[in-house]
Amino acid sequence: MTETKTFYVNLMTCGIDSTLGYLYLKSKNSDVKQYHNLYVNTGSRYTTSELKKVIRIFEVFGSNYPEDEFLITHKILYEKFVQSILEFEDAYYTNRNLLLILIVSGIFYRTDQKAKIRINLFNNKDDRIDDGNIDYYKRIVDAGIVKNLESIDLPLKDMSKVELGKWFIDEYNNETMFPTKSDKIDFLVNGTWSCYSNENEECLSCKACFRKSVVLANVCNYIRPHRDKEMIQKYLDDKNMHPERKAAIELYAKFSQLGDKVNEHA
Ligand SMILES: [Zn+2]
Repeated sequence: MTETKTFYVNLMTCGIDSTLGYLYLKSKNSDVKQYHNLYVNTGSRYTTSELKKVIRIFEVFGSNYPEDEFLITHKILYEKFVQSILEFEDAYYTNRNLLLILIVSGIFYRTDQKAKIRINLFNNKDDRIDDGNIDYYKRIVDAGIVKNLESIDLPLKDMSKVELGKWFIDEYNNETMFPTKSDKIDFLVNGTWSCYSNENEECLSCKACFRKSVVLANVCNYIRPHRDKEMIQKYLDDKNMHPERKAAIELYAKFSQLGDKVNEHA
């Protein structure tokens, strides 16, 4: 009897969570021979820019991990479809993830109908959006929509964004890829990409840019001033935030001297 194949699939973007999350997985699961890293182009307004950065990151990883295979699917979901699931913001990420999981599972099921499929999502424990609910993903698997989908795992579910960043700077060891600490910092700042604009430079005004700036300030004292001062204040006033994220944001605000004086700088 031949051994059943398993596809290990990482649902990726080019942000800090999934790029560092991938390196984290690789370092902790050296027994896994091959991860399939998939970025699904949803056709949203910022994917033109995001796609370029994803390709660049996949090249960086690819040159060091020739055993990995990087697949990029183009234009599977179109703008109108994506907009329709944006209607209720709280449900957006869970709905989007479900769609991505179905697409990705379908791709691998088509490739080999006997193989098992295990998908990794890179949610942090301090993500505000409630899409880090492992029971939700278990229910998707149990529903049997994709026959061979064996698991949807959240390997970063016990780590905050800052903890992940600190792990990368302090503990991750790959001298070929990052010979020095400043190479790692450079990768965090310039190699990863998190922005809702569709420009060549990160806008430093959107929520995604802000979340990345908070990590940079906490992990390597790298300060990027945020252009939308009101947004920072909204974050500082938010009572429902995970305490670790709250602390990280307060430290960012302190470092960038935006805390109490936020409006003076506006
Ligand atoms: Zn931005």
